Amino acid sequence: MPDTPMVAEQPDQDRVEEYDAIVIGAGISGIFMLYRLRELGMTTRVFEAGTNVGGTWYWNRYPGARFDSESWTYGYSFSKELMQEWDWKEHFSPQPDTLAYLNYVADKFDLRRDMQFRSTVQAAQWDDAATQWTVTLEDGQQARAQFLLTAIGILSAPTLPAIPGLDSFKGPAYHTARWPHTPVDFTGKRVGIIGTGATAIQAIPEIAKQAQQLTVFQRRPNWAAPLHNAPIGKAEMEEIKSRYEDIYAHCAKTPSWFIHEADPRTTLSVPPEEREAFWEQLYAAPGFGIWMGNFRDIMTDEQANAAISAFIAKKIRQRVTDPKVAEKLIPQDHGFGSRRVPLESGYFEAYNRDNVLLVDTINDEPIERITPNGIKTSKKEYTFDFLIYATGFDGVTGAFDRIDIRGSHGVRLKEVWADGPRTYLGMLAEDFPNMMMVLGPHTARGNIPQVVEHSVEWQTGVLRFMREHNYTRIETRPEHVAEWTETVIKAAEPLLSSKVDSWQTGVNRNVEGRHVRRVLGYNGHGIHFRQKAAEVAAHGYQEFRFG
Ligand SMILES: Cc1cc2nc3c(=O)[nH]c(=O)nc-3n(C[C@H](O)[C@H](O)[C@H](O)COP(=O)(O)OP(=O)(O)OC[C@H]3O[C@@H](n4cnc5c(N)ncnc54)[C@H](O)[C@@H]3O)c2cc1C
Repeated sequence: MPDTPMVAEQPDQDRVEEYDAIVIGAGISGIFMLYRLRELGMTTRVFEAGTNVGGTWYWNRYPGARFDSESWTYGYSFSKELMQEWDWKEHFSPQPDTLAYLNYVADKFDLRRDMQFRSTVQAAQWDDAATQWTVTLEDGQQARAQFLLTAIGILSAPTLPAIPGLDSFKGPAYHTARWPHTPVDFTGKRVGIIGTGATAIQAIPEIAKQAQQLTVFQRRPNWAAPLHNAPIGKAEMEEIKSRYEDIYAHCAKTPSWFIHEADPRTTLSVPPEEREAFWEQLYAAPGFGIWMGNFRDIMTDEQANAAISAFIAKKIRQRVTDPKVAEKLIPQDHGFGSRRVPLESGYFEAYNRDNVLLVDTINDEPIERITPNGIKTSKKEYTFDFLIYATGFDGVTGAFDRIDIRGSHGVRLKEVWADGPRTYLGMLAEDFPNMMMVLGPHTARGNIPQVVEHSVEWQTGVLRFMREHNYTRIETRPEHVAEWTETVIKAAEPLLSSKVDSWQTGVNRNVEGRHVRRVLGYNGHGIHFRQKAAEVAAHGYQEFRFG
């Protein structure tokens, strides 16, 4: 795949280009937003920090990176032709195939001519008098537009570990979300990896197969369950294609826009043997069934959650040969499913290999610093050829915070959201006229592309409505922002996940100011979200002030 694609010509640095709309980000959200804005006849410029399209799938090139969504529910559904043309090769697509898919979409709809790559947006400022946003890039280039659409991702602001000496390591060191574009060969190398979240859980089994020695530095373990990926043959793909309409219609009715749906029974109402048999069946099945297709109370009832956690702990003990290592891999600080469950392919078995060592940095050996040769813990210095930071992201609001966004009267988004985001439907924020967010905080969560398609359709619906009524300006009414923010907070209350630190509750111990939990996503049923959004549209968007 060429790394320097056909793109929009770089405009004259001194001239401020004007567009109807500016989109920030060329991931799955920005790609579709551009497609729809073009259909509306709006002149649009997409600014993207990377050198090509793809977002998550452009940046996260680490070994083992792949979906935990079923591939055939992750693609766009807006074009039936596209759905019929694209063949997914695996049930859970690996990153290179997903990136190829997003490039295919960009090519098919000739989208790159409105995209400008290597263009990091540093600031966005609202000008009330001109009814325009001015966007400033890192290199000083500016552009103006009536509308600003953010498509900057929920997991796109990588964070490094807060450990002294990060710059001192002599060898190559990579964050998994800033992975080199050429394959990294670990053959015969000593590799240290920091982190045991979803990314590390995918990467560790793959790197372990190559490296001479892999040392895993774990702060807190995460629950994980088997992915059970499999190839998709030609005939099976044809069969899936014939069912696409039903598959997407089904996802539209589930709580999280996935194919999986909770079992209506409560955990403790089912006799232990039957319960165990059901869990065995889920554990042996592909995808998120063990999490989303489980008894309906595992995420809300402490006892139910303790029972499923004990089942998964038993599985870990069965799969890991050394009992001491197994115990280190079993989380004690949160129950199964109260964080997004990483799905794995041979993660636990990786610890049975002679060349893999687990270092518990909380209970056994705290890391003191990174050194020129590797990592120094309280017990010894480990020497490495490569260091890998699988330390995740400043989730959901991180990418917003990295842009200086100023709305009416110069208010800063970062400051307005300092104690937690305030939005309407996660799509608009008070005092930020003509700015809409795809995957903003407080919007629905789940199988992301389906949420994205819904948001883009809704937002372009607003733009169409404005055009029909000759409106040039849209702003949320404060009382509706307060109402939606309250709805989101209430929806999170019964969930055990709200009582746990994770990127989903806005906690990242490596980032200053990110040590307190916030409610970042709408945790209600997907159907409720769709209904609410549809009602707002049907009633003529009364929750907004137009001008
Ligand atoms: C490893 C990994 C696996 C995942 N697996 C799944 C999965 O299986 N299923 C699922 O539903 N979701 C998954 N996700 C979530 C994933 O992020 C979404 O599925 C989806 O890719 C989000 O698309 P997006 O376009 O909204 O954001 P992104 O893909 O994050 O794209 C945002 C883009 O905006 C750009 N950008 C951000 N800030 C700026 C700026 N200031 N200036 C210019 N450009 C900027 C970024 O460079 C990036 O390219 C996964 C995430 C990760 C990290």
